[in-house]
Amino acid sequence: MIYFIGAGPGAPDLITVRGAELLRRAGMIVYAGSLVNPALLDCAPEGCEIHDSASLTLDEVMDLLLDGCRRGLLTVRLHTGDPSLYGAIREQMDRLRAAGVPFEVVPGVSSFCAAAAALPAEYTLPGVSQTVIISRMEGRTPVPERESVRSLAAHGASMVLFLSAGMLESLCAELIAGGFPQETPAALVYRASWPEERVLRGTLADLPSQAREAGITRQALVLVGNFLGDDYALSKLYDAKFSHGYRKSREEIK
Ligand code: SAH
Repeated sequence: MIYFIGAGPGAPDLITVRGAELLRRAGMIVYAGSLVNPALLDCAPEGCEIHDSASLTLDEVMDLLLDGCRRGLLTVRLHTGDPSLYGAIREQMDRLRAAGVPFEVVPGVSSFCAAAAALPAEYTLPGVSQTVIISRMEGRTPVPERESVRSLAAHGASMVLFLSAGMLESLCAELIAGGFPQETPAALVYRASWPEERVLRGTLADLPSQAREAGITRQALVLVGNFLGDDYALSKLYDAKFSHGYRKSREEIK
């Protein structure tokens, strides 16, 4: 059996209990070295084979995983955050399916959740936005035309941009071109949940210069939207005048 496990955003205690249990029993771990905290590998038992996939190709990763599985080892593919986001797991899962090898995915805490916790902030604020757009800026890796940052910005929803901190100048320009006023609040969260975590807060106009001064170009998320501002409406969920499946309105009770 092969397990794709979400390692969480960085802090070793932000992996799930299920993920940590499997690491403790692993016979082989292939981890994405750039952002998986190596401290997690301390959970691995004596004799566990550990490989960093940072310098490997898809073929090489698959050879390792299939070899581990063939030898009867509990084989773990450890991905940063949650594997379903920019994890390139689909191509690995399809190869395993084709080879008839069983696998399971164990979710993880994505960095966009850790970034919200670092601020701290709520993406889905009543009266502000009920939508979170997760995307990235086009770079060497293309993004479908209809999902350009500029067109997504037109929604004015809460936005989280992965893999884009190195293009902050053009990212902010695109967000503004798409309709966000330049004074829209924005934040850059570097290495959320790691000891070296940094949070820069500003606006679309000044975030690029702040990031330049701080020397942050990678391993960071860009958060944009009025959910980072001061104004919002109170939630209906806890509104005394509002009833729902779990609670009667306080007025109905009177
Ligand atoms: N699957 C991962 C994302 C992998 S793509 C997840 O769910 O978080 C790698 C990108 O994720 C980085 O370029 C950066 O934009 C973001 N990232 C990953 N971990 C991060 C962290 N701890 N803090 C800030 N950004 C992070």
